[in-house]
Amino acid sequence: RQIWWGHRIPIYTCAKCAHVTAAVPPPASCEACGSTNLAQETDVLDTWFSSQLWPFATLGWPEETEDLQYFYPTDTLVTGPDIIFFWVARMVMIGLEVMGGVPFSDVYFNGIIRDAQGRKMSKSLGNGINPLEMVEKYSADAVRYSLLDLSSEGQDIDLKESDFEIGRNFSNKVWNAFRFLWMNLDGQDIQDANADFIKKALKEDTLDLSDKWILSRYQKTIKRVTRSLEHFKLHDTAEVIYGFFWGEYCDWYLELIKPRLFDKENQDGRHVTLAVATYIMKGILQLLHPFIPFITEELWSKIRNEFDAEDIMVSAWPKESRTFSNEEAENQIRVIQALIGAIRNIRGEMNVAPNKPAQVIIAEGSTNGITPEMILANKAYFEQLARVDKLEFRPKSEKPKKAATAVVSQFEIFVPLEGLIDFDVERARLGKEIARIEKLLESLNTKLQNTEFINKAPRDIIGREKKKKIDFESNLSKLRLNLESLDV
Ligand SMILES: [Zn+2]
Repeated sequence: RQIWWGHRIPIYTCAKCAHVTAAVPPPASCEACGSTNLAQETDVLDTWFSSQLWPFATLGWPEETEDLQYFYPTDTLVTGPDIIFFWVARMVMIGLEVMGGVPFSDVYFNGIIRDAQGRKMSKSLGNGINPLEMVEKYSADAVRYSLLDLSSEGQDIDLKESDFEIGRNFSNKVWNAFRFLWMNLDGQDIQDANADFIKKALKEDTLDLSDKWILSRYQKTIKRVTRSLEHFKLHDTAEVIYGFFWGEYCDWYLELIKPRLFDKENQDGRHVTLAVATYIMKGILQLLHPFIPFITEELWSKIRNEFDAEDIMVSAWPKESRTFSNEEAENQIRVIQALIGAIRNIRGEMNVAPNKPAQVIIAEGSTNGITPEMILANKAYFEQLARVDKLEFRPKSEKPKKAATAVVSQFEIFVPLEGLIDFDVERARLGKEIARIEKLLESLNTKLQNTEFINKAPRDIIGREKKKKIDFESNLSKLRLNLESLDV
């Protein structure tokens, strides 16, 4: 090759007799005539010849340096699959030859980033996205998280700018959840946000059901995140943490603990809950650190205590603790979540004003270890998350009148509508909505009975129209039931 950077070929030509000598180190004189007038070849070896030396040449080889001993072999190489034979295979071969062993045990091949239409990004097409501009606009954490979330093993990534919004929204959520917690914390809460204190509280039975639940869910999250990271499943890992942090910690746990946080009478309960909430938050920051390093490091510096590492990046990776596994608590919260979800659905479907407290009646019975006593003991959750001010169990025979109903985990629940909505207005609204969907369904049916359409339209379009029909029908039956419940 004729380039500036590279290893010059160790071949020397004699100016006197034209004899060619190949030698390392450089010969002092021509081996044929003894002349010292030698000229080294100006061409260099191929780029990949030099690149293959990278795993050890960068560490001081051929000297037996400390770095070389510590870092060779390393464990993981990350690179693109387009240079497997140019680079990866050469590093392995020269490593075996020169160092007596392969330079790494795992190679992770990342996908190639393409544009939204799947074309390679190139200068001539002008379809590239400048990462530095994206960092400027969305933050380094957001760009990093989004790219990792989009990385399915071995798959190329079709990238568009709006993909970075996932990362931006997620890191904002982390920041905001932290701020909510931070506003409520004092020094003692931070001090006690450690496993020993929480184990003691567990023993003394001062933990709330929601605390036991989130601690148990956290153990499962540690296990799943660790396992999928070990298998280089970056997208799966991102999804697991996202689901736990947003779907469980923020949407449920931080809501479920609010009654406890605002209860001035019970300072001990408040303190225990804040210790748990902070302990879990620290764990989330650690699990998230490889994905959003800057925000997590910043937030860690605010809530770490004397038992924790000074920097999150050198802190020990969270370990699963069996003490906190609690299938019973998980099962109980699962049912409570389903009940609250059903009540919220009813409120939404019946158009109940969000600020109006509702009464909820559950037909007596117990199932799968879930008892009325357990549910009643956690009434505060229903108040906090579904605006339920009265929750009671009644015998199955006493069905309340004019009530919307739902069945959840074999529990039949009723929300009496008297006082919650204006029946005439709601009847009119439901009637109008039913008429609107009936009309849509009618024209859809005409279309689907039209043989010309069925014969000519592409299959996926027919499939979509049939799916629409099913949706309309199920919507209609729901609306009709709702309308009936106003009169029974
Ligand atoms: Zn010579």
